[in-house]
Parts: sequence; C-alpha cells; structure tokens
Amino acid sequence: MSNYNKVTDEVVKKLVAICGEKYVTTSEPLRHSYMARGIMGLEAELPEVIVRPENAEQVSKILIVANENLSPVTPAAGGLSGGFALPAIQPGGIYMDMTRMDKMTVDTENRVMVVEPGVKSGDAWRIFKTQYPDWAPPIPDGAPPAATVLGDAIERGFSLVTGVYGPQADMIMGLEVVLPTGEIFHTGSWALPGAKPFYRWGVGPNPDGLFLGSQGSMGIITKCAIKMVPHPHYKTVVAYGGESWDDVVKPAWEISKHEMGISERTVMVQGGNYELVMTRWPKTNVPIDYEFYKKIGVDRKWMNYEVWAWSQEELDFTLKGIDKVYKDYEVREKRTTPQQQLHPKQVASRLKKPNKIAIPYSLWQAGFLFITWYCPWLESSAMMDEYCAAMADYGFPETMWVASIDHARQAIVMPILCFDTNEPGIYDKIREFNLETTRSFLKKGWINYRPDPFVHAPETFSKAKEYYKMLVKFRKVLDPNLILHPGRLAIPWESVSDLPNPAKE
Ligand SMILES: Cc1cc2nc3c(=O)[nH]c(=O)nc-3n(C[C@H](O)[C@H](O)[C@H](O)COP(=O)(O)OP(=O)(O)OC[C@H]3O[C@@H](n4cnc5c(N)ncnc54)[C@H](O)[C@@H]3O)c2cc1C
Repeated sequence: MSNYNKVTDEVVKKLVAICGEKYVTTSEPLRHSYMARGIMGLEAELPEVIVRPENAEQVSKILIVANENLSPVTPAAGGLSGGFALPAIQPGGIYMDMTRMDKMTVDTENRVMVVEPGVKSGDAWRIFKTQYPDWAPPIPDGAPPAATVLGDAIERGFSLVTGVYGPQADMIMGLEVVLPTGEIFHTGSWALPGAKPFYRWGVGPNPDGLFLGSQGSMGIITKCAIKMVPHPHYKTVVAYGGESWDDVVKPAWEISKHEMGISERTVMVQGGNYELVMTRWPKTNVPIDYEFYKKIGVDRKWMNYEVWAWSQEELDFTLKGIDKVYKDYEVREKRTTPQQQLHPKQVASRLKKPNKIAIPYSLWQAGFLFITWYCPWLESSAMMDEYCAAMADYGFPETMWVASIDHARQAIVMPILCFDTNEPGIYDKIREFNLETTRSFLKKGWINYRPDPFVHAPETFSKAKEYYKMLVKFRKVLDPNLILHPGRLAIPWESVSDLPNPAKE
C-alpha cells in the first residue's frame, strides 16, 4: 500500500491558516457524523480532519499542504453517492467537505447553469420553481434533496430527464478543476478567458472525461457548467404492467427507439417489480406474498412513463401513442400488459422532485445497498432475470429497478439489496453475491457503475487491463504523489490493498 502520513497538528494548523478556525475540525463525533452520512458505504475509513474550503484558491492551497505532508484527500459534496465519498484508505486523511461552496448562476438565454459543488438538488429545484418556472435543473430523480447537482453530474448519474438527455455527465458544458498539484484550469470554451461555457469541446481535445466517473481521484471540481432543460407543465405518469421483464422492456424500446415524436416527451422511463413496493415498509408490517399486491392492483412487473408536454393536446397524443404500442405488443406477442390504475397520489408523488421514493428501503431491515449496472437496453431483461434468481438464492428479496438512458440506448439496472445489518456474516454474503453476479455479467459485456473497490473494480480491470494501465498513467501525471483518494476505482490498486494486483495477474 502507498505510505501516507498521518495528519499532524502542524498540518491542522496550516489548514486553519488557509480556511479559518471555524472551518477545520478534528472533533471525533463530527468525523463520525460524516461517516454516518455515507449510507451504503460498506468499507470506509474514518477521516482524520474535516476541512471546508470557501473557493478554488483555498482548495488549491489545501492540496499543496496535502502533497507536502503526503496526506490523502477525499472530496465530498452531499456524501450520498452510496458511501463512495468516504476515505477508502488508511489513514483516512483529509476529508474535504465542499458544501460551503454553494453558488449557482442561471443563464436562460444560453440554457446553462453554473453550480459550485455545494448546490443541493432540493435547493436548485426550489429556486427554479419560484424564479425560473419554465426551466428545470438537471437533478437526480430519486436521490435525497441533499444530494448535489455537481456530485450527481460527475458521477454520471441519472436525472429526471435521463430517458431523453442521457446520463448526467452528457449535460456538462465545462468544468473548473483544481488538479491534485494545486493548478487550476477550465475545460470547454471556458478555457478561453472571458468566454461563456457554451461549447463543451472547447479549444482543443477535451480532457473532461478524465474527471467524470473518477470519484474524486483525478482532480477536485470547483465549478460545473451544466445544461438546464425546458420545463413544460402538462405532465403525468402512466404505467403498464406485465408478467415477465420482457413484457416491460420490449414495449419501452418500441416507444423510445424512434427518439423523436412521442419518445422525446417521455422524459423518464423506469420500472420495477412488486418487491420494490414491498421493501419500502418494515418487513414485519407487510405481507410478503404476491397475492396481496395483486389484490391491490400491482402487477408483478411494470414500467412507468413520465410525460412532459407543452399542451393538453400534445400530452393526450403522447399517451395515446404509448397505449397503442402496448396494445400492438399484446396482440403481436400474445401477452397481457395492462395499463396500471395509478392513484392520483401515486402520480403526484412521482412528479414531485426530488421524489424521495428511493429513500425508505432502510425500513425493511435497516441495511440497503444499491448496486448499479449498465447494459444495452434489450439485454436488461436477461440481466434482471439473472439478478432476481441470484437474490432469491442468497435470501434477499428480489427488489429490482430499471431505467432507460437516452431513448433506451442503455439500461441502468439496479437491484436493491435489503438486508439485516445485524445478521452474522452478512457483509461476506453480499461480497459473494456481488462476486458471482459480477463475474457472470462481465463475461456478457455489461458494465458496473460506481464499483466496489474489492469486487467490481478489480474484476472489471483484470479484464480491461490496457484501459486500467492507461488510467494509472493518467493518474500519475495528474497526481504524482497520489494524494487524492483512489475512490472505489482502486487506481492504482497498490494504494488500496496489499493483495496481488488483479490487473497484473
Ligand atoms: C436513496 C437514494 C436515492 C438515490 N437516487 C438517485 C437517483 O435517482 N439518480 C442518481 O443519479 N443517483 C441517485 N442516488 C445516488 C446519489 O445520491 C447521487 O449520485 C448523488 O447525487 C451524488 O451526489 P452527492 O452530492 O451526494 O455526491 P458525493 O457522494 O459527495 O460525491 C460523489 C463522488 O464524487 C466525489 N466528489 C464529490 N465532490 C467532488 C468534487 N467537487 N470534485 C471531485 N470529486 C468530487 C466524491 O468523492 C464521490 O466519489 C441515490 C442515492 C440514495 C442514497
């Protein structure tokens, strides 16, 4: 493992000189409170000091101090990306809480907003609702309101309009980055002093992809220019059920593949199964037999379509188009895919943003873990069948969620493992479950997103060895002392573990 130094009193003094006494703490309860935020962080280390910079210049100075002392630095915004914003190495080092940097500017003419790392989704939505009602900020659809716009974008997450616009990283127009060595630079047209962030590919080859999905391991982003989207107010949600995953995946593909027409108004296409309803309640308080859910009108599986339109006529036209695809599918494939009768409260809760629907899974048995994969849309049925079978084998409820990314070009498939945190050996069981499914999925060419450092990252990179070698090279150029925490990508492996490097075997 890399040899990092512990954060000394001397280092803390330097951090205080940069940010001020009020914004640096070594208090143990406070350091633990940051760990508690990182729900779903199965493996994490306690940071040694928390520092809260106010601007890019302070970030740069902190990184210079970290280089001098060889202390690892972990940047975090909302800290809600499933524990991935927590230190993954020992000693925990400097935890850089970016939430003080929370300025946002909105340019309706060029349809771009600029956010600092601390702008929360809930706040962005509220401000747009009152000040820019005809525009929507690209916020994650179901993440807690404290998740940030920037955190989700650099994670390449999925937003409220992801069905049409693609992953959040596709919306980025420019970044302000502080490199681990302390240098500050801009990507896109922003690289030209005085230019607006109107053209992502900017003045030359665009390096922004190195920072997106890097989980804070390549540089610290202090500003992000991101597209905002038009927000028409004729909206609703319709859902169609089915018995098999194909029953929900294939019609959604029929609807989405044309890309224009009704497809461009179905901004969010997402589905799941009845277990998704069941596990949002305490295990002891709800029936676990499907018959109960059948009686209340929930199909075994379903797909939701959130539709945004400029007029009632356009909305009705879109809903009719969706319905026709389902009717044709039933006749052609001899299947039953009924429209679900949604209660107005169900529609309202789906349309509410951030919708908070994904928050209650901890009620089932306290522990929950989202595991996320990308695959070509039509292959998602096979992935979900295999995942559900594995979840049943391992004794987890078969809670499954899926969404279309960019007109059903890709699927984002997400099993939600609901588990009892007190069960002896539960974390080993989760790791075995992850290993088994990961090995099988990688053979099929499917890709994990937000990898676990001890399962998905080594398994993936041991197959994509050339790519991994390039990542390590880039990282060493940007971060010669490997100051930034390697995130869950484990680049380079030696900074996370003494175990043999799987990419070298
Ligand atoms: C209940 C629940 C529901 C969710 N629903 C959704 C959803 O609908 N859509 C979705 O996409 N996601 C969802 N998520 C995942 C998560 O909330 C989002 O990805 C989230 O928006 C991440 O933002 P954050 O501010 O919490 O980022 P953080 O967790 O703070 O950071 C994300 C990553 O980027 C790094 N990082 C943070 N700030 C910086 C920076 N300034 N520079 C460089 N690196 C940095 C961190 O180290 C970390 O690895 C959900 C999570 C939960 C718990």
